[in-house]
Formats: sequence, C-alpha cells, structure tokens
Amino acid sequence: MSLRPERGFRANFDFDVHLPPAIGFLDRLSRNFYWSWCEDGSEVFRDLAPTLWDECEQNPRALLRRISELALWQKAAERLYVERVQRLAARFGEYVSAEPLRFGKISSEHPVAYFCAEYGVHNSLPIYSGGLGILAGDHLKSASDLNVPLVAIGLMYRYGYFRQRVAHDGWQEESYRNALEDDLALEPVLDSEGRRVLVSITMRGRRVHAQAWLAKVGRIKLYLLDTNVAVNDEVDRFVTGHLYGGDTETRIVQEKILGIGGIHLLRRLGIEPSVYHLNEGHSAFLNLELAREFLAENENLSFEDVIPLVREKCVFTTHTPVDAGNDSFPPELLEECFDETYIESLKLDKQELFALGRTDPDDSSEWFGMTPLAIRLSRSSNGVSEKHGEVSRNLWLRMFPGLEDASEVPIAHVTNGVHPATWIAPALKDLYASKIGVHWESLLADPSEWRNAVESIPDEDVWRTHQLLKNLLISYVRDRTFRKDAGLKHTIHEHEDTRRLFDEDVLTVGFARRIAKYKRWDLILYDLERLLALVDDPERPVQFVFAGKAHPQDNTAKAILQRLMSINHDSNWQDRAVFIEDYDQEVARYLVRGIDVWMNVPRRPLEASGTSGQKVAMNGGLNFSVLDGWWIEGYNGGNGFAIGPRHEDEAEDDETNDENDAESLYSVLENEIVPDYYDRDEQGLPFKWIAKMKESVASLTPEFSSDRMLRDYIREIYDPELSE
Ligand SMILES: *Cc1c(COP(=O)(O)O)cnc(C)c1O
Repeated sequence: MSLRPERGFRANFDFDVHLPPAIGFLDRLSRNFYWSWCEDGSEVFRDLAPTLWDECEQNPRALLRRISELALWQKAAERLYVERVQRLAARFGEYVSAEPLRFGKISSEHPVAYFCAEYGVHNSLPIYSGGLGILAGDHLKSASDLNVPLVAIGLMYRYGYFRQRVAHDGWQEESYRNALEDDLALEPVLDSEGRRVLVSITMRGRRVHAQAWLAKVGRIKLYLLDTNVAVNDEVDRFVTGHLYGGDTETRIVQEKILGIGGIHLLRRLGIEPSVYHLNEGHSAFLNLELAREFLAENENLSFEDVIPLVREKCVFTTHTPVDAGNDSFPPELLEECFDETYIESLKLDKQELFALGRTDPDDSSEWFGMTPLAIRLSRSSNGVSEKHGEVSRNLWLRMFPGLEDASEVPIAHVTNGVHPATWIAPALKDLYASKIGVHWESLLADPSEWRNAVESIPDEDVWRTHQLLKNLLISYVRDRTFRKDAGLKHTIHEHEDTRRLFDEDVLTVGFARRIAKYKRWDLILYDLERLLALVDDPERPVQFVFAGKAHPQDNTAKAILQRLMSINHDSNWQDRAVFIEDYDQEVARYLVRGIDVWMNVPRRPLEASGTSGQKVAMNGGLNFSVLDGWWIEGYNGGNGFAIGPRHEDEAEDDETNDENDAESLYSVLENEIVPDYYDRDEQGLPFKWIAKMKESVASLTPEFSSDRMLRDYIREIYDPELSE
C-alpha cells in the first residue's frame, strides 16, 4: 500500500483497515466529524492508543492507519471498551438517520447553501486560519444538531494555513505541510456513473477544472473544491494551494472557484437552494453567476432586471471593519481574471462590472471590493454583533447616497456564538449531567431555567472541576514548551525546567489571538515594571500564557511577538510566562477550558465580535476585556471584568487610548482580579471568584451559543417570514 500520492494527485483518501468486528464501527465514525463533538467521540479514539493519538494530531483516520493490529485486538477483547463503541454506534445511527426538519421555505429540497472560504471543523482538516473558519465550523455543527437543511461549499487547500515555529531569537517562522499526504476524512464526490465530479471555469484565458471532496459534519455535507487535478496546467493546480498564502491574482481566482465553481457544483449535484448565505465577501462572485444564469434563461432581460432576482436569493454576513479583511482588487487584475465572454454574458461592459464593486460606482479610481458587491447583490446584510452592525452601517453609508443617517443603512446584526458541545470540556459536561441531568444541554434554550440549574451546582464542585481543567492546561503547557540549558538567553517557550512550569494555585491569565496591530498584543507591556510587579508578587502572583500567529508577511506583527518572547528580565517572568506555538483548535481547547482569566484588548471598535471569550465563558473562565464586539452585550457587571471606557467615551487619538486602557488594565488586575481570586473562605475556596464563574456560565452560555445564533439566522435572515 503506497502512502504517497502519485505525482502529487490523490484519487481518494481511502485505505484498507481491518478492524476486529466488535469495534468495526470506528471506521465509519472516523469518516464523520460528528466524532469530534459527540459524547465519548474523541475519547474512544484516544483510548485506542493515547500516544499515537497525539502523534497523529488527533486525526482518527491517521490513527486507524498506523495503529498495530495487536493493539486493535487487545481493545476488541476489552468488554468495557467494546460497550462504549456499541453505545456510540447506536447514538450515531440514530443521529445521522433523522430526517431534516423544515423551516418555512427551507427544506431538504431547497436547503440553505452556505459559502465560506475557510472552515474550522477540526484541526485534522486544516483548512482554516482563525475566527472566521471556526465560526463557520460551529455554524455547520449547530445546523447539524438542530437538523437544519443546509449544504456548505468551500475550498480544499492542499497546503492549508502555515504552521508556526518561533526561533531562539523570538522570530516567527512558517512552514507548510501537504495535507494530501495526510489521512483526511474526505471522500471524492462521484457522479451516477462513478466518475469524479469536475466543475470548470475560465480564467486567465484557460479552462480550469476543480474536483470536489465531501466532508461529513454530522448531518451536514461540506463540499470542498480542489484544482489539484491532472488535467490542469501546473500553475492552476496551485489555485487552491494555500489559504491566504497567495498573491492578489491567486485570491481572485480562488474566489472565482469558490463563488462561481461553487454554483456549478450545486447544479451538478441537483441542489436548488432556497437561500445562498455568503459568509464574508470572498464568495460574492456567486451573485454574478446567479445573474448569468437568470440572463441565460431569459434573453429579454437586462442585468438591471435580474438584480432583484439575485438579491432575493442571497444573504450576506460581513465579519470585520478592518481593511485587510475586506478584499478589494485593482480593476486591471480583475479584468485579467475574468474573460470577456463572461462579462458579456452578464450583459455588462467592463466599467459596469467594476462599478458593482465600488462604494461609489462613478469613482473610477476605486478598486473592486467584494463587500460592496455582496451588499449590492444581497437582500440582507448583517454584522456579527450589535456594535459591529452599527459600525458597518457607518462604514458602508457611502454606498447609499440617498440616506442621511447611518441608522437607515440596511445592515442588521446577528451576534456570533460558539458550539457548546465542541467547546465545553467533557469534565464539565459530566458535572452538568450529574448535577443538572443528562439533558442539561436542552436547558440552554431557556436562559432562566439554565440559570436556576447552574446556581444549584455546589461551589466546591465548580471549583474542583475547574482545577482539574487547569491542571490539564498546565500539563499541556509543560508538554508544549521546550527545555533549554541553564544560563542561556532564551524566549518564553523555552524554559529551564519545563516539568515545574506553572502552578495550579497561581492566577492564570490567557491571551491567544491573531497577532495583528489592532489586537494590541503589546498593551500588556505598556508599563513593564507594573506588569512584573504582578508577576513577582510573593503572595499573590500572576502567570500568563500566550498563543497566536502573525500573518507571514506582517513583519510589524512579528516584531511585536519577538519583543514579547524575548523580555529578559531580572524577574520571575521566565517561569510565569509561556508562549505555545502554532495556535490552532487543539491549543484553543486546552486554553479556553483551563484558564482563569481571558484577556482581550483590541482597539475599539475594530473587534467585530470575537468568539474565543465565549468559549472561555462556557467553561467557567472569566473574561477580562475591552468593551468591544460581543463583550458589550455579554458583560453585566458580575460575570467578568471590563477594561477602559466604552467606544463613545474614548479619546480621539490612539496614543491616549492606549495609555488609558493600559492604566485600566493594570488597575483592574491589581484591585479587582487578584484580590477576588486570592480571597478564600474557611474551606479554602475563592468564594467571590466562584460566584463570578457561575454568573458567567449562567448568563453567557445560552446567549452566545451557535444554536442561538443559527436560530436567529433562520428567523431573521434566511426566512424572515418565520418571525412574523
Ligand atoms: C475561537 C478561535 C479563534 C477566534 O477567536 P477570537 O476571539 O476571534 O480571536 C481563533 N483561532 C482559534 C484556533 C480559535 O479556536
């Protein structure tokens, strides 16, 4: 059996596994990402061979290929293990065989078609970079759990997103791994004659083909387009090579594959969606393709005529007010990537096409923006938190020359949420099951019932479970840091004695996010003396764990990381601060479950929502964040901590705001967080802290669940008639 794909192509990811019949179901389970969030799903694979599981980076397909036959038969002879597998098999069978529900116009005949450039379903499918992808993954998981008819379209990036290493001098280095050599849980999409389904589009004067892969996400089908096929020219095979790795031209052609190729694929599969959800503007060429279809069906219509027909079918979610997140392209480049016949088939000339992507259609100096295109050709647009809705209305007001006031701009909001079953720690789920009941998750649909249930859990149980999760985090930290020889200069992911790093009784602050300027990674370093006084406090110290990636081309961000990595000081910083490399979903899982405090200090109002803090809240960690994005809605005075003023009360200039926020950050730490955490009752429990933990879990879990988010999308966006 050859592991290496021939000449860089791969027909499928199948291989023969000969599982003992008693545990044969594991093969089927490994092919559906349902295993990653269902009860006992990851544990059942991990317990087959724990060391190998981590070597395989928690990929069950890779595990099943590499595990020894002896290990498999040993497990098949363990009655308790076999019973676990059988219970899972029964639950899985019931889960996937349920008929999809109907939500107004949304039915299995006419599902929602969800388009996104990245999906963070699990780290073993490395086609995401960060928040947007994780959100899309959680959207699919909630759609699966709520049994919503939805199909998803994305791209299969052969090299995914980069892997991060940090050198001895603190500088980030990137490497790429060929995912096609891994055992991905993907199957080829075949037509009725068993042949690969290919779609093709014209670009750069050539026909470019893409094949489709299917990932099963519970009940949801996620189709991924991949241009790495033999019929393509060498360069075109790399169109879907890297996520956010290529140049602008690559970006345009990727987005053509996603938007236009995605529509072709739906047609090939015979899927006639009731609504197309553009999750971020990357897929907005799909609106043009829908227009082309309408025009091809009826030659009497003009482009102007079909705009209402296209808009009727499309809804758009914008995810960031930051420029870099709103793709725009120089018209010359767009022209190169779109051939003339395509533009003609839209009954447009070039200038008219370019105008569709401008905020001011008459301003020929403006580039072609995917966000204006999406707003213009969708019946609904929304931001991802209440504040972000407002920010977006102001940002895009110039697209609506007739409107006087931003409040009239037709951009709504649906606040982001995260998938509870994915993010809540198994130990905490067990606690809920034993103290609330096995159906604890259904209580999330009723916030007041949920609150009562959470309040009834004894403080000592909450604390014991939290300390367990914190110990898991600490051992993970020790595992993921490096030993260095005593006396050498080093960074905070190299430590003299990694086995003694961190202490479960020390207040632990987590900070993990993309390293971009507006996220203000260096705010914590504003006054080094004050920071180190917190870290060095003999009675009530603070320890920090950091993780995050800088964009490969962003040297400013890399320099910020280097500074943080390399603070060499006559203090305990070296033992009480840690950087974990290669932030991904697996790292996130340990962090959000085990941390005491989660810090977030973006420049207002640039954090559209943020979701990592929501994962923390569900696990009993406390948010310590600037009032921006979701935290404006989440913070109630008793469920965490706020840094600095609200956006409307800020100073005009960034320097003053940085100074004020740094002051607030230190003083909240010194005067609220540290005292609350270390104040213990007779039993040694931090009673004030636990009260806040329970308030956080009670108030935030239902509100910031992706189930709530999806219900909002269905009622307010996908089929507004449902809310009438
Ligand atoms: C949740 C998550 C994010 C997004 O969190 P933010 O709060 O938006 O930074 C990014 N990366 C990973 C790996 C995550 O799990």
